[in-house]
Amino acid sequence: MRLIAVSKTVDAKTAFKAFEEGARDFGENRPECLCEKALAVPEANWHFIGNIQSRRIPDIVGSATLIHSLYKASHADKISSSACARGKTQDVLIEVNVSGEESKGGCCAEDALALVQYCCALPNVRVCGLMTMAPQGDAEVAQACFEQLAALKRDIHGKLDYTYAQSFVELSMGMSEDWREAIRAGSTMVRIGRAIFSEAFEDARV
Ligand SMILES: *Cc1c(COP(=O)(O)O)cnc(C)c1O
Repeated sequence: MRLIAVSKTVDAKTAFKAFEEGARDFGENRPECLCEKALAVPEANWHFIGNIQSRRIPDIVGSATLIHSLYKASHADKISSSACARGKTQDVLIEVNVSGEESKGGCCAEDALALVQYCCALPNVRVCGLMTMAPQGDAEVAQACFEQLAALKRDIHGKLDYTYAQSFVELSMGMSEDWREAIRAGSTMVRIGRAIFSEAFEDARV
């Protein structure tokens, strides 16, 4: 299980402090902050977890170890060509809107397999698994959402060719409020912001 420290609300100096304390994976939701902080702490793995805008894809590909929030085929095409231009293969997760909340990004569960297969056919993209965000405020609802994503991952995994299935292993789910439910449902990556940076670091500063 990997802990991703979501540093979107703190500056690069604070992220560096967390790196010195042992954090190795960081998450950002804005391309400009991703690039700036990845330059400041280049030894860390930088994860892009925000909404993807087509014109920012070259910047995101330039800095991200893993993109968690891909859910459009047109963006997948552009990620592959940007990665090709950089001589890299870009690792991505497909974001699924399991709960169906309109405010959230992600494809619907029914479309996930087709999008995974579409990405598998691209030369410079590697699909490493699925990501979701659960509705906040109800642990049981979050648990059910995470279990649905885990079941979807198993289902898709079973339908992929062996070479693609081998790397289709990650479940990015769980945030400050619901990481316990996510881990219970089989999360391989939790994305924690407030619980790390507003508690440990701000309390330590006062
Ligand atoms: C901000 C954010 C997180 C972290 O949320 P916290 O509640 O602060 O832990 C995780 N995932 C995504 C996609 C985010 O935007």
